[in-house]
Amino acid sequence: MHRSIATVSLSGTLRQKLEAISAAGFDGIELFENDFINFNGSAAELGRITRDLGLSIDLYQPFRDFEGMPEAQFRRSLERAERKFDLMEAMGAPMVLCCSNTSPATIDDPALAAAQLHALAERAARRNLRVGFEALAWGRKTSLYGQAWDIVRRADHSHLGLILDSFHTLSLKDDPAGIVEIPGDKIFFLQMADAPLLDMSVLQWARHHRSFPAQGDFDVVTFFEKTLLAGYAGPLSLEIFNDVFRETPNRRTAVDAMRSLLYLESQARERLARQASAASAREASVRARRVCDTIELFNPPPIPALSGVTFIEFAADANSAGTLGALLLQLGFRRVGQHRSKDVVLYRQGDIHLIVNAQPDSFARSRFDLHGTSVCALGIRTDDPLGAAARATAMRSARHESPTGPDEVQVPAIVAPGGNLVHFVASSLGSNGLYEADFIMEDDVEGDRLKVPKAPSVGLTSIDHVALGLAVDQLDTWVLFSGAVLGLEPGESLELADPFGLIRSRGVANVDRSVRLVLNVSMSQRTRTARTLSVTGGGAVHHIALACDDIFESVAALRANGVRFVPISANYYDDLPTRLDVDAVLLDRMRAAGVLFDRSATGDYLHIYTESFEQGLFFEAVQRIGAYDGYGASNAPARMASQAQE
Ligand code: MG
Ligand code: MG
Repeated sequence: MHRSIATVSLSGTLRQKLEAISAAGFDGIELFENDFINFNGSAAELGRITRDLGLSIDLYQPFRDFEGMPEAQFRRSLERAERKFDLMEAMGAPMVLCCSNTSPATIDDPALAAAQLHALAERAARRNLRVGFEALAWGRKTSLYGQAWDIVRRADHSHLGLILDSFHTLSLKDDPAGIVEIPGDKIFFLQMADAPLLDMSVLQWARHHRSFPAQGDFDVVTFFEKTLLAGYAGPLSLEIFNDVFRETPNRRTAVDAMRSLLYLESQARERLARQASAASAREASVRARRVCDTIELFNPPPIPALSGVTFIEFAADANSAGTLGALLLQLGFRRVGQHRSKDVVLYRQGDIHLIVNAQPDSFARSRFDLHGTSVCALGIRTDDPLGAAARATAMRSARHESPTGPDEVQVPAIVAPGGNLVHFVASSLGSNGLYEADFIMEDDVEGDRLKVPKAPSVGLTSIDHVALGLAVDQLDTWVLFSGAVLGLEPGESLELADPFGLIRSRGVANVDRSVRLVLNVSMSQRTRTARTLSVTGGGAVHHIALACDDIFESVAALRANGVRFVPISANYYDDLPTRLDVDAVLLDRMRAAGVLFDRSATGDYLHIYTESFEQGLFFEAVQRIGAYDGYGASNAPARMASQAQE
């Protein structure tokens, strides 16, 4: 498809926006009028610059308050339109977006609106320009695409068509199903935007909180699919008004934008291919086959099947490596390997592998100018590491080629937003396979038999989730990366109270929940989460949650090892039975152990946080009971308040 983006979606001067849009691989732009008005140059110069960057100007927007006006205003607006057409001709923009009238002067008469739009289209046609009519969700008389289409149909002019914008339809909870009935060649342009579900004025929502597809809560895939089924073959464009994007570096936003379109296309393609392959003469299958035969939708390698976070690598300076190593021993890990060529140590417990990299010239150290300790890489297990890496590359993530010594296993890696690495580890490698090539194993396992008796276990078995502290402008980037690259679906977005500000938290997980990330953003500069960010410039792991089967046994063993946990107020345990129906014996055990509790419709969650050791990093032990699917978010304020009182 021809991929486009509105200039309003990015930060920077118009020139910088165009360069970022071009670098991200777009085909065209929608020129937002204010960007042109404030541009130091003529329309012709802008046209040249844009063409030199390999971009077309697909749309000039917006043209406001036109249709359904009293005669005098209508005449003036036609003259106003002629001046816009002059500019469009000079810059080479073939279409203007006319959005539905929001003026109190507008008259509720679709026939009048149609007649006036016909007159506008007639003026445009003289110059071989086209007019697209779009229903704004807050339009005074026309707010639904069905109403706008009714007016376009009545106007019946070949240079007048409909512009669809997913935001306006989905924010009003209007049904996109009817789009299929609109002739595809009368849909002149398609703007896609997602948004979080917010209960606020639709105008404020639209102007400040739109997001790229896959970053919000709207069913944008269905909207896009219906438009394609209608026979639409024009540009696929993004029009995103977002306060954060206005300040985010535009190169990064442009890459996110492209990633969101590629992901959207691939999701729609999968659905259409399924419908098309249904050997049916039904209208829907016939239409789907027509789309698949005529429209080229992005077709990346499939989303990889992931089966757990198998290792986490810390970059540490020599001092911190010692501190962290001692803590890991207390946490029940054993030192099982020493890297053959580097100052890197492997710790293991159950299916959890933690790598402490104290190599002074390590990738993470050079990249982040790191002091202390920070997570620099995750290893995710998959049946198809090369496929996973190919998917990531197709979705515009950079590959990372790490230098390897002799006999070391090459594990494909990609760069996650913020700079950390994600390695794809073959499931077939087994528990030692990945490491024995790189590490001199001091392991007690020989084949499947234990050589020496196991040290008393604290019962931590696997990595339940990894929580990241992100800068405000990284959350949407991470939600999109997680979905498009790793196939992790976002859960609900929560706001949690830290004593010094709000934290927004969103979990993302794969279908079988073997890989879970929690994305936390501090809305304030003063929270602990915000302060940990300074270390890696906006994307740091801030805790690692380890699963166990019996949290009380594990906590007892950990306490016996000297592990210190975040103390929980006695008031918490007094309050708990007033909120939830908790068994008295269980409540006493939790109070004695310092364990926190959460309950959902599907199960229970028992958990406890260790004191943090450096840069706010800490561990969490968790026990999931039933099909509990959250992260104990309701207890995070108890932790944050306790940490603040340390
Ligand atoms: Mg729009
Ligand atoms: Mg957690």
